[in-house]
Amino acid sequence: MILETEIKFLAGIGPKRAEILKKELDISTFKDMLYTFPYRYIDRTKFYKVNEITEDLPYIQFKGKITRIENIETSRNKRLIAYAADDSGEIQLVFFKGIKWVKSKLHTNAEYVFFGKPNVFKGQINIIHPETETISDENNQINSNIQAVYSCTERLKDNFIGTKAFNRFQSSLLTLVYDKIDETLPEYIISQYKLISLKNALLNIHFPQSPELLEKARFRLKFEELFYIQLSLLSQRLNRMQKNSGFIFSKIGDNFNSFYKNNLSFELTNAQKRVIKEIRKDFATGKQMNRLLQGDVGSGKTLVALICMLIAIDNGFQTCIMAPTEILANQHYQTINDFLKGIDVNVKLLTGSTKKSERKIIDTDLTSGKINILIGTHALIENTVQFSNLGFVVIDEQHRFGVEQRAKLRLKNTVSPHVLVMTATPIPRTLAMTLYGDLDISTIDELPPGRKNVKTVHLFETKRLQLFGFMRKQIKAGRQVYVVYPLIKESEKMDYKNLEDGYFTITQAFPPPEYVTCVVHGKMKADEKDFAMNYFASGKANILVATSVIEVGVNIPNASVMVIESAERFGLSQLHQLRGRVGRGAEQSYCFLMSDVKLTNEARKRMQLMVKTNNGFEIAEEDLRLRGPGDIEGTQQSGLPFNLKISNLAKDGKLLEYVRNIAFNILNEDNSLELNKNSLLRKIMEKNFKKQIDYSAIS
Ligand code: ADP
Ligand code: MG
Repeated sequence: MILETEIKFLAGIGPKRAEILKKELDISTFKDMLYTFPYRYIDRTKFYKVNEITEDLPYIQFKGKITRIENIETSRNKRLIAYAADDSGEIQLVFFKGIKWVKSKLHTNAEYVFFGKPNVFKGQINIIHPETETISDENNQINSNIQAVYSCTERLKDNFIGTKAFNRFQSSLLTLVYDKIDETLPEYIISQYKLISLKNALLNIHFPQSPELLEKARFRLKFEELFYIQLSLLSQRLNRMQKNSGFIFSKIGDNFNSFYKNNLSFELTNAQKRVIKEIRKDFATGKQMNRLLQGDVGSGKTLVALICMLIAIDNGFQTCIMAPTEILANQHYQTINDFLKGIDVNVKLLTGSTKKSERKIIDTDLTSGKINILIGTHALIENTVQFSNLGFVVIDEQHRFGVEQRAKLRLKNTVSPHVLVMTATPIPRTLAMTLYGDLDISTIDELPPGRKNVKTVHLFETKRLQLFGFMRKQIKAGRQVYVVYPLIKESEKMDYKNLEDGYFTITQAFPPPEYVTCVVHGKMKADEKDFAMNYFASGKANILVATSVIEVGVNIPNASVMVIESAERFGLSQLHQLRGRVGRGAEQSYCFLMSDVKLTNEARKRMQLMVKTNNGFEIAEEDLRLRGPGDIEGTQQSGLPFNLKISNLAKDGKLLEYVRNIAFNILNEDNSLELNKNSLLRKIMEKNFKKQIDYSAIS
């Protein structure tokens, strides 16, 4: 209970600082403060000599005597410079704010300990707004030689809430509440996994008594954080499986058999076979399937989906595929029709540009059950779309869809249809386990045989002529070329200018009638887009100039060159997706990343990684490391449903798998956490995870 006390009641805080803490760091109670963890530590046993202080040092401490204090007032600013000296030299301490307070606190000839980050200004090393304490000031009741450093905003610092203040707050707080911190993990888990107690962990995370204890404290806190998230996700999954009954597709019928025998001209990869097995198992359980299918671009996900649809159809059910763009829906429609030649399955396409008359026929045939496979865009989820017996739903490139849109598809039958969501934006394992921890995950980790890696080259503008020369050669050899420009919502105007200029440049360098170039961008009407795409797909155009609308799924095997303009403006997964548009045929394919010479470090790393690897999973892992989990492309929409205080999905993957297994075994033995030994788990789950959205109802 005491942990729920408002933070203003903690010694040294009061209402004004409480308000600032709330605003800046969302700290409103004792507990929030206790769970505000340091982001790094400094060795307090180390005192620098003034002449050792250099600009590149991080946060440091040194002892010094104030020799003089200068007030400086210019028309632009007011500042106070205090000179601190030890036997090795003198350094400037600069204050722009709280000058009065500093003056009253710092006295010449007195000795202090200063903490701060060294800077350099006009060749002089200084420290701006160092934290200061007198040598005898150390009145914290709890102390440590490893000093915690907290991340403080400017506004906090302006109000004298810096790291030292946090040390004092945490010290008074721990003194006050230490004995009242209740354990949050059951005894048996603590002993089995050799964890330290919560109390001890909280003490040591703020005031490490030794490096070993700091490590143990971190481990305990991360363990707990990730463990409860996994326990919650896995119990949701369990709930869903217990509650949601699903259709049983027990039969393997004519459509499936004749497709396998007559229509499949190649062998499925082992990964495809494995995934189909996994899905068939789900179809047999009597529980509703919610499965995520991950697989790199071109790994053959669509075919897996189609085979599973045939099973559903053989069992008397309707199926549908929802794709994020019309181009993609069209393409699925064509591919699936091609695949199904000679098989008596009725496939229809429904998008925003389906004509009214056609739409009427679809509506009728859908409710009568005449349509077996409906392919479409968002149009599929409209309430007017009524199936007679929808049994299986496939959602392509799921990250393009919002959460509610997916939920709506599930409601298209009285019993929820089985759901397969497919993504070619591989989500790193750790992220998938957190983001989709309640879904089952299948992975196609193998490309069809004979695929060649796309050769990837990073080029600057200076190499453009050579690039054009190379394009001409490829076109002469019968290949086709994509040239893609970035499209970013905030600056659409500029992007279209880029695209227009680009088109102009290309048609200058590749003049008609010798060369044919067409354009596709997001502002074109659907039928114009289709026309241009089809023109290119049919081989009538040599070059397609486009914005990233072609990113997802487009499949034109004869295109062997992908030129990405301003490549530095694309994220890694997007670059990888774009590159995936080539390398689909038998010929060697190429991807050129054109960029500015001036690149940020991150952009350079992205280019290097693209050149180095063709593996989407490797790229996704690196993306996670470079950008942090909240930012991974394709997951922004959903964001991370959990606020991680101490764990880092990019770094703590092993631990995550470890605790996920532990959580899994606990639930396996005790489904609804009814055993006595698990009562604490249940209590904490009810308290902390009740409000959470039911993610299982979403995908
Ligand atoms: P994805 O949707 O995963 O990007 P697709 O399903 O579009 O991949 O497959 C890419 C191409 O590979 C298609 O032309 C498809 O027909 C072909 N393909 C799929 N599976 C195989 C396989 N086992 N062997 C050879 N080609 C395959
Ligand atoms: Mg695809």
